[in-house]
Amino acid sequence: MTRAAIGAPSKDDGAVPAGVTVFDDDYPAVANLDPALLAALRKAASDALADGVTFYVNSGWRSPQYQNELLREAIVKYGSEEEAARWVATPETSQHVRGAAVDIGHSEAKAWLAEHGSAYGLCQIYRNEPWHYELRPDGCGPMYADPTHDPRMQR
Ligand SMILES: [Zn+2]
Repeated sequence: MTRAAIGAPSKDDGAVPAGVTVFDDDYPAVANLDPALLAALRKAASDALADGVTFYVNSGWRSPQYQNELLREAIVKYGSEEEAARWVATPETSQHVRGAAVDIGHSEAKAWLAEHGSAYGLCQIYRNEPWHYELRPDGCGPMYADPTHDPRMQR
């Protein structure tokens, strides 16, 4: 981890260096996930490993401060709050802050989950975010085009 800027999110805010997997309890980004989501992820990850595929966690649980920082960065990057909202939620609406969402890498893991995830209740929620998974024990519903179409994201 080489982010050194003042105010850069720390491990305790949910920041993750490259190479962290769903089994790394040492990282709050992983350990603070909803226990049912984490259990489903680990079950799927164990089966994926048998196929030679490793689930990396690019992001999991995040503190409200970290989420707010991501949102401010996105507003700068996309030029407006409206456009940023297609990619980054507020601390109040983010499923990451609740520990209910995980962003999975790399591409083999995303491909594995796209094919097998629903059998574990692991569902892609947004068509524009093939890395973002949440637990839907009753089955995956239709995807939203992006988070602005998700009723949970309405402010
Ligand atoms: Zn996400």
